[in-house]
Amino acid sequence: MTEIFKGSFTQQEPIPEAGIEAALTVLRHGRLHRYNTSAEEISETALLEQEFAAAVGAKYCLAVASGGYAMATALRALGVQPGDPVLSNAFTLAPVPGAVAALGATPVFVGVTEALTIDLDDLRAKAGQAKVLLLSHMRGHICDMDALMAICDAAGIKVIEDCAHTMGAAWNGVPSGRHGLVGCYSCQTYKHVNSGEGGFLVTDDPEVAARAVMLSGSYMLYERHLAAPPKEAFATIRYETPNISGRMDNLRAAILRPQVADLATQCARWNDRYHRLEAGLRGTPGLTVIDRPEEETIVGSSIQFLLLDWAADDVRRVLARCAERGVELKWFGAPEPLGFTSRYDSWRYAETPQMPDSDRVLAGIVDMRVPLTFSLEDCDLIARIIRAEVGAVYQTQSTAAE
Ligand SMILES: *Cc1c(COP(=O)(O)O)cnc(C)c1O
Repeated sequence: MTEIFKGSFTQQEPIPEAGIEAALTVLRHGRLHRYNTSAEEISETALLEQEFAAAVGAKYCLAVASGGYAMATALRALGVQPGDPVLSNAFTLAPVPGAVAALGATPVFVGVTEALTIDLDDLRAKAGQAKVLLLSHMRGHICDMDALMAICDAAGIKVIEDCAHTMGAAWNGVPSGRHGLVGCYSCQTYKHVNSGEGGFLVTDDPEVAARAVMLSGSYMLYERHLAAPPKEAFATIRYETPNISGRMDNLRAAILRPQVADLATQCARWNDRYHRLEAGLRGTPGLTVIDRPEEETIVGSSIQFLLLDWAADDVRRVLARCAERGVELKWFGAPEPLGFTSRYDSWRYAETPQMPDSDRVLAGIVDMRVPLTFSLEDCDLIARIIRAEVGAVYQTQSTAAE
């Protein structure tokens, strides 16, 4: 009997009841704008910022409209100007180079290794070209952050971390987003907390935080924040920083607060699923599991493996065969981007020489979401299906090659 998986790869869990209750309260009083508070009231957004800052151990936190907005705001707060080069990952999602392009700045792509992290040799080689690195922990893979920060500190490069896939993760015990100068997170439905859209920016730097607050559109009401720097930090910044509105609202904040409180539990549940999948895939001939370093505390909300040096048609056959059995895999190697699988050479607004070593890795990356609506048994079944279908194609492939 051929096993078929019937679950949905895009179905998240419902919003926790406490979030629904809090959202209804906000809807009933109608004060959705973060600065629309009654006499002694503290807004849901201000409380959310305080709680998220505490969760990652940051001094300052600003909640905003999206992860992409958080990154563009961080770049602006660091003074990136139109035409400035900004280092970033060749393997990431479109909002990352998009945030650079939003300022009229120019992405300079750094390659990807077989560990799916930024290529530190390539970074070292390109370190002289820019003063800012927008580092994406794409699909939750964290590079050796101690080595990366040493390279960037030596070259005078400021680091903004894109933690869209690493909220709750850590390197060497330090939360992701707390190694560089600024950490950016997304609260979009497919990330680790879900308010539909939303994002956070965290930093310990009072000047960067004050600029970010002004940029987000605080109308001189920054004293109503609980996780912003003291008002002295705004003394001149309040006059020189344009308002580029992108605030979080109280409805989303109400939905998010219980989720932030619950983050560690949810991360553990993701990892249970991830490890079942990983165990089921390990040892499949032709398939490379991505080994995670000991220093990395992961959040396994998606899983990747490599079909390294496979012919494109064979990868397509694996995807088609898995899809027939209900397992939705995405491939970063297709010549045309589909859904979210674009990569550096898809973003033609940024001219880039080809990177053959990265191309080889990208051509082999197969990616799968792991929503928490999957049971552990679902994960076992999915791994069995992938294992069988990769095996079937690999066999005909190696026979053909003989
Ligand atoms: C989702 C995502 C973002 C931010 O996305 P928004 O949709 O703007 O919240 C940033 N980087 C990566 C890698 C992402 O996947």
